Amino acid sequence: MVHACPNDCYLYKPIPSAIDPTTRVENTRTSCPIYGASRYRSDTQGTTCPVKVLRWFPLIPRLLLTYRCPSLADLMRWHHENRSDDGIMRTVGDSRAMQHVEATHSRMQDNPRALRIGIATDGFSPVGLSRKSYSIWPVMVIN
Ligand SMILES: [Zn+2]
Repeated sequence: MVHACPNDCYLYKPIPSAIDPTTRVENTRTSCPIYGASRYRSDTQGTTCPVKVLRWFPLIPRLLLTYRCPSLADLMRWHHENRSDDGIMRTVGDSRAMQHVEATHSRMQDNPRALRIGIATDGFSPVGLSRKSYSIWPVMVIN
């Protein structure tokens, strides 16, 4: 979980320590360095809370876990080992667009373990019909 600027221009991620730059310390900024928007607001009880929060799951460790499981590791190579050559598009990997990407980045075509990742997002209001302008924008990463 990372606090974010309400204008989406800054993340209050930990910053390198002034004493030891190899370590990170809490980012204590209270406003955005770009437009000056406040990091915090007071709720109805007077409690200070962040204006916007980014919740995320680290992607790389999750992808590495798929290669530790033998059955999932087999599936991660499926697009390379089951490519059709009859000119009929059955998967995204058969499309001209993906073939162009692979031709442009030959390392991707040669490596059966190269990942093809799609990203999709859409916003919704978790509180339904209320007039609050609170919304959630999940970002789905699809292998
Ligand atoms: Zn900002």
